[in-house]
Amino acid sequence: MVIGADGANSRVAKAIDAGEYAYAIAFQERIKLPEEKMEYYEELAEMYVGDDISPDFYGWVFPKYDHVGVGTGTVINKNAIKQYQTAIRERAADRLEGGKLIKVEAHPIPEHPRPRRVQGRVALVGDAAGYVTKCSGEGIYFAAKSGRMAAEAIVKLSKNGEVLPTEDQIKNTYIRDWDNKYWATYKVLDILQAVFYRNNGAREAFVELCEDEYVQKVTFDSYLYKTVTRGSPVDDIKLLFKTVGSIIRGNQIAKPDAPIAVIDNKRL
Ligand SMILES: Cc1cc2nc3c(=O)[nH]c(=O)nc-3n(C[C@H](O)[C@H](O)[C@H](O)COP(=O)(O)OP(=O)(O)OC[C@H]3O[C@@H](n4cnc5c(N)ncnc54)[C@H](O)[C@@H]3O)c2cc1C
Repeated sequence: MVIGADGANSRVAKAIDAGEYAYAIAFQERIKLPEEKMEYYEELAEMYVGDDISPDFYGWVFPKYDHVGVGTGTVINKNAIKQYQTAIRERAADRLEGGKLIKVEAHPIPEHPRPRRVQGRVALVGDAAGYVTKCSGEGIYFAAKSGRMAAEAIVKLSKNGEVLPTEDQIKNTYIRDWDNKYWATYKVLDILQAVFYRNNGAREAFVELCEDEYVQKVTFDSYLYKTVTRGSPVDDIKLLFKTVGSIIRGNQIAKPDAPIAVIDNKRL
């Protein structure tokens, strides 16, 4: 048995002809801040939106124990990633003042699962399989979780190493269980990304909605429990109307996005 846990550029995925996925490129600078500046990030993480930062994703300043990660990502305009990184650095400039750059990272992030995640006795997990959620770009939890689910299924199927599991058996356990557990979560986040990151008007709406306590609760619960949690149907209907209102208002106040010359459709 082989479990391909070798990340977005997976050699194992290529070896089994697992098929391609669309991907984002993410860029991150790790910055060590002076102590008094780091205090600001003790209790919060920052998310920045706008077409200066990314035409289809968000920029971030995330605290990482003793430093911050400052970054951004994009699918459709990968060649401009450094320009977007400069923009997030400029937007957060006051808070990052006096910081020392300690590491620069740039890496692909899969946008959806590969067409084939099991071939023969090879199974893919994590980024190799394409398990990063849209909208938040979260992949660490899902990489660990898929590794565990694949391993547990295989140990059980192999009767503790006595028999070799077949492709169908792996598909009917690990892949089926994964899709049952997470398909809806991925789909909802996919829709949210398509709705709220598509232009500056939608991003204004997103920012306005984030002030709503119900939105905050549903978002944090979903993030915590890794499943889309829902409140009462009445609150959901209220939210629907609020969203429409926010999108209309957002489109009225936002400046139009800068045009992108060539939409990047590269796949990995
Ligand atoms: C800039 C950036 C910021 C991110 N921020 C977040 C975040 O805040 N939260 C979050 O949840 N996710 C985040 N992600 C996504 C997250 O990092 C990935 O989804 C996650 O690391 C995937 O884990 P993985 O084990 O599948 O792959 P990886 O972490 O890529 O690990 C793959 C491992 O395989 C090894 N490997 C590859 N090829 C070979 C080979 N041929 N032989 C031997 N070893 C090999 C690599 O060296 C690596 O150690 C971010 C990604 C990027 C690029």
